Amino acid sequence: MSTPHTPRHAHAPHAVVAGAGIAGLALAHRLAHHGWRVTVAERAPGPRPQGYMIDFFGPGYDAARIMGVLPRIRELGHDFDEAVLVDEQGRRRASLGFRRFARAMGGSLVSIMRPDLELALRESLPEGVELVYGAALTGVEEHPDGVQAHLSDGRVLDADLLAGADGIHSTVRGLVFGPQEEYLLHLGFHTGAFVFEDAELHTRLRGRFLLTDSLGAQMGFYGLAGNRVAVFAVHRTEDTTLPDDPRWALREACSGLGWLVPRALERCPEPEHVYYDNVAQSRMDTWSKGRVVLLGDACQAVSLLAGQGASMGVGGAFVLAEELARAGTVREGLERYEARWRPVVAERQRAARTGTSWFLPSSAMRLRLRRLVLGLAALPGVDRWVASAMSGKPSRVVEDLAATPLVEPVGDVGASAKEGRSGFEAPRP
Ligand SMILES: Cc1cc2nc3c(=O)[nH]c(=O)nc-3n(C[C@H](O)[C@H](O)[C@H](O)COP(=O)(O)OP(=O)(O)OC[C@H]3O[C@@H](n4cnc5c(N)ncnc54)[C@H](O)[C@@H]3O)c2cc1C
Repeated sequence: MSTPHTPRHAHAPHAVVAGAGIAGLALAHRLAHHGWRVTVAERAPGPRPQGYMIDFFGPGYDAARIMGVLPRIRELGHDFDEAVLVDEQGRRRASLGFRRFARAMGGSLVSIMRPDLELALRESLPEGVELVYGAALTGVEEHPDGVQAHLSDGRVLDADLLAGADGIHSTVRGLVFGPQEEYLLHLGFHTGAFVFEDAELHTRLRGRFLLTDSLGAQMGFYGLAGNRVAVFAVHRTEDTTLPDDPRWALREACSGLGWLVPRALERCPEPEHVYYDNVAQSRMDTWSKGRVVLLGDACQAVSLLAGQGASMGVGGAFVLAEELARAGTVREGLERYEARWRPVVAERQRAARTGTSWFLPSSAMRLRLRRLVLGLAALPGVDRWVASAMSGKPSRVVEDLAATPLVEPVGDVGASAKEGRSGFEAPRP
């Protein structure tokens, strides 16, 4: 599927974005806003229907509001009042108020399925964006005046910038920076997610987010429209090899959790409809080389333990586009993007690593401690401490950057390129 639009500026600088996930779509959106011509090349044959629930808050939430996408995100999103931890009989053990959690972080929060977040971003793509499905990025060639992107549909695109927004197993990173073993830090968990229909189970969720209060493995349940139930599971393992059939691995790890878990496992769909992967963070010394830059999970994955990868993907894309719009050259924009955004990522990654034992306790004592702390989290003051321990410190980077005036008026990027000014020249190797 291809969605061509007439470019706003025939001579506007051109960006190729590999990956039409959350980060890639957000970058395309914001670059087009600043007058770039953008081609988004996505490997999948169409929008990916598989998904899981995303709690969307923090810098990405701020960026979505500035980009004007937030109303649609809220429309497609779900409001859960609280997350409830239940034992193997389904009895309530502890809970965390979502609204209080959002307030304690000084921001707002919406829960949305990943495909719906992508839909909201895709629907709002401005003029100047071409979105091509079934076109994987397969090769990159840099030359003094630009970069060439080779796609699996046979096209070779000339661009001023190539952005790798192609996820934690990024092809762009592999081609330009080196094998993923050098950049992925496995956190000692596997995760799986799937969606199924079950009217009875749906009724028992009663619009809440329910999570097993368990050791070593846990499963979370969200009720969606139309009696659908979204499930995610996470379990500890030092093995980084992924199973041939994720259903087998999920049964092995989770069937002992009791309550509604065996029923959910019975309804687990065919492997192609199940998300399953290692839980990992991307760690890199640099996010760009020449005219190639990475964003989203490709360079900054915080892992689901941080519960903020999508938000960070949108926030990082926003910062990248804004810095490019404020810089005289691509190189300068890429350096400023990294200087401004890296500290935010480092803080979230640190919070996720130190929070692993909160997310999935490793001993009965820690499990009891988590219940106790969640009980205290209802108290003013303690709520802020719990929120900060779980998610890292709130950041104003996106809002502060948006308040910084542009060097050139919005949309004039193309004009500067047309007039032959030296902007958007990467240094010669
Ligand atoms: C179970 C689970 C729960 C989560 N919960 C939350 C949460 O509550 N809150 C939150 O903020 N985040 C959450 N996350 C994290 C979040 O989903 C990710 O951080 C986010 O989706 C990353 O977006 P991305 O665009 O960088 O990468 P991806 O979503 O991985 O998108 C990459 C895209 O690139 C495409 N692609 C891959 N290779 C190529 C290629 N060679 N050429 C072209 N295209 C290619 C892929 O098909 C895909 O469309 C969760 C993750 C998981 C697994």
